[in-house]
Amino acid sequence: MDHKELAELLFPDINKTIEDLEREYPERDLAEGARVTRLAPSPTGFIHLGNLFGAMADERMAHQSNGICYLRVEDTDEKREVEGAVPILLDTLSYFGINFDEGACKNGTQESRPSGVDPEGSERGAYGPYWQSARGDIYKVCIKYLVEKGMAYPCFMTEEEIDAIRKEQEAGKINPGIYGKYAKDRDLSLDEIKKRIAEGRSYVIRFKSPGDESRYFTCYDEIRGNISMPENVQDVVILKKNDLPTYHFAHVVDDHFMRTTHVVRGEEWMASLPIHVQLFEAMEWEHPVYVHNTSLMKIDETTGQKRKLSKRKDPELGLSFYKELGYFPEAVREYLMTILCSDFEEWRIANPSADYDEFKFSAEKMSDSGTLFDINKLNDVSKDVLARKTAKEIYDFMLGWAKEFQPEKAKLLEDNKDMLLKVFDIDRGGEKPRKDLIYAGQIFEFVKYFFDEYFVYESEWPAEVSKEDRKEILQRYLESYDPSDDNAAWFEKIRAITADMGYAVKPKDYKKNPESYKGHVGHVSGVVRIAVTGRANSPDLWTIQQILGRERVEERIRRAEEA
Ligand code: GLU
Repeated sequence: MDHKELAELLFPDINKTIEDLEREYPERDLAEGARVTRLAPSPTGFIHLGNLFGAMADERMAHQSNGICYLRVEDTDEKREVEGAVPILLDTLSYFGINFDEGACKNGTQESRPSGVDPEGSERGAYGPYWQSARGDIYKVCIKYLVEKGMAYPCFMTEEEIDAIRKEQEAGKINPGIYGKYAKDRDLSLDEIKKRIAEGRSYVIRFKSPGDESRYFTCYDEIRGNISMPENVQDVVILKKNDLPTYHFAHVVDDHFMRTTHVVRGEEWMASLPIHVQLFEAMEWEHPVYVHNTSLMKIDETTGQKRKLSKRKDPELGLSFYKELGYFPEAVREYLMTILCSDFEEWRIANPSADYDEFKFSAEKMSDSGTLFDINKLNDVSKDVLARKTAKEIYDFMLGWAKEFQPEKAKLLEDNKDMLLKVFDIDRGGEKPRKDLIYAGQIFEFVKYFFDEYFVYESEWPAEVSKEDRKEILQRYLESYDPSDDNAAWFEKIRAITADMGYAVKPKDYKKNPESYKGHVGHVSGVVRIAVTGRANSPDLWTIQQILGRERVEERIRRAEEA
């Protein structure tokens, strides 16, 4: 067989060579040890925690080593493509603090790809196109090269034939796939190929695997160390009928010519590693270092079992979930880092106020088996992150969130800026800051009693206090209330009412002799607290009243007398 003739027959218009591409995309001029990483999502429009998880590893590895982190759009599967997915992806990742140095850009749309009319704006960088659908000729140069080497061939098998083979293999419990004797078109003669093409029969290009299943190869993974696996024997498809490459081939070509040094990707790709390593060998290229990260798991509420987070069942998998609820991006990032790297939490405890970028990220510390995602833990991390923010930072974030997701609340926040700054400042700073703020939606709920239009009685009145007593407590409170009292003087008055009305001033006295008292000071102040805030629990009540101001406090007390 004259492979050169076959290559010309299949790719008559491809004139460039591998050497041309090597010249066009030379080794990057970076310092020793600089890493080049990439995020390579399919533009499906769904951006999930796994994307962010990987992107954070990519971003840290690259920027910590003065390298490059770029975005490549893997749009060779037309069925999965969603219009506008890339701008959304970039916006979302940027919201979470991930910005790329190179690659597909925000105004990149299906129309404005590099192959289209407007190459500007859709990408930047010297290693593009960064949209796989625009790289057709690059892949073909490489496939032509493999055909010339006798390592790739056209395969005319129909879906029915392939189906029949699959059934036969299933019945015989034989490894599925097109390999060995099942690869029927592996050794077609040039004449036969010419004849079939002349008949207009459609074909794909398959890789002619030189593998032997009984042979093992070893590949280093930065998380898992050396992995030993049997060689690939499958004649995988490298060029599909739609003239675009499969993931396997595109990965090899792109990561070579974009000069990627480290490939961070999901562990679901581990199984295809033998294919990729073999393709790199066939092309006579060195493969990048692989970093297969683990899947995010959760404990299923109904079964109690650990399982993978699923797009269908778990809304918390999508990043929009966190954006819409108003999680601070740092909180999500910080939490992911906590579960991504085994040494992050310890570092954070030792460096509570250090910038996240100061943490020394290393893939060796990444988990190699099912990382457990737990939203309660995220909330705890978020409380810590928010405790480090200023009242102004919280206010500004809340306002931005409300404008985007709850516009009816935005005006309220704007009109009450001064009040909210004081509210967010309660017990902020100092040794032991309050840790009850988690995300914008929750913060609004937490402080909404400051707004008359949202005020409701959420808690039950204390059972120890009769309705008559409640009224009397409130009446006495109203008579004695003086906003110029300091916290101590204010509480002294509560105590006076408590003692006067037959309640214990010290809770422990009541606990010792419950029959001697109607209740204790906590029940009396509880009545006032519910009257003012609608809640049995709140931050410091005196401070809340100072913020609300005399008129509104008195109004609420009067209203509670009638409740
Ligand atoms: N498009 C692939 C995916 O979304 C990329 C995997 C990789 O990073 O190589 O899973």
